[in-house]
Amino acid sequence: MAHIYALVNQKGGVGKTTTAINLGAYLTQLRQRVLIVDVDPQANATASLGVDHKQLEMSIYDTLIADYPPAEIVLKNRKLDLSLLPSSTDLAGAQVEMTQLPDREKLLERVLQELQNHYDYLLIDCPPSLGLLTLNGLVAAKAGVIIPVQCEYLALEGLTQLMQTLERVRTNLFPGLTIRGMVLTMFDARTNLSRDVVDEVRRHFPDRVFRSIIPRSIRLAEAPSHGLPISIYAPESTGALAYRGLAKELLDGDRD
Ligand code: ATP
Ligand code: MG
Repeated sequence: MAHIYALVNQKGGVGKTTTAINLGAYLTQLRQRVLIVDVDPQANATASLGVDHKQLEMSIYDTLIADYPPAEIVLKNRKLDLSLLPSSTDLAGAQVEMTQLPDREKLLERVLQELQNHYDYLLIDCPPSLGLLTLNGLVAAKAGVIIPVQCEYLALEGLTQLMQTLERVRTNLFPGLTIRGMVLTMFDARTNLSRDVVDEVRRHFPDRVFRSIIPRSIRLAEAPSHGLPISIYAPESTGALAYRGLAKELLDGDRD
């Protein structure tokens, strides 16, 4: 059975997409078969893997809304050995169309059921909102959610709201929803603030925070513009080592 995780945080720019791509890339190096599921209309994960979503004939939109077979939409990057269910800007309108459909929170779950036997890991990159697309991501995330938390002022802000949403999903849609872990991102060792945030998040959520901490790294920010994960773009950089560590930590935990 594949492990299906959703990368979630309604706060924008905290490292959801960066974590999905680079965690995915390192899981493939650990010989896992990985599918990145881009459910964000911004299509950042799609672009970060070098796919021009404007050129795509079909995207996740066509399978969510029009029941097109998802396997025919999946793109396989042979060089990276990484698969992608791409997004496109069509998806922005999909939230409205989805509202009309029966079981509107379970559309993604159904799509991923068709695909999951071919993979060990499915990583769902959610948009920065708690709207219907993110709800679909949560309901589909059978192995739990991974929450990137940026090591910045007000890091905990918004996490209460996220916890309430998770609770609501547990009550109404998916009782088994769990938090797999929080990932501290954009850590800057030179600042007290970063260290304070690490302490604070760990104090609030004991046993819920991955040991691996992702540093702020220019290389991580540059890699997407080359359409590459950090494992190829700058494999010796501090960001690369951190994501490699995170992948190993996740895999080890999942094996226990
Ligand atoms: P959104 O909410 O818009 O989907 P996100 O949570 O997916 O954003 P990312 O797109 O991963 O966040 O990251 C936001 C920006 O910060 C991007 O430009 C990314 O390249 C950069 N970034 C992410 N992680 C790091 C890091 N550890 N060091 C430096 N830059 C980073
Ligand atoms: Mg993103």
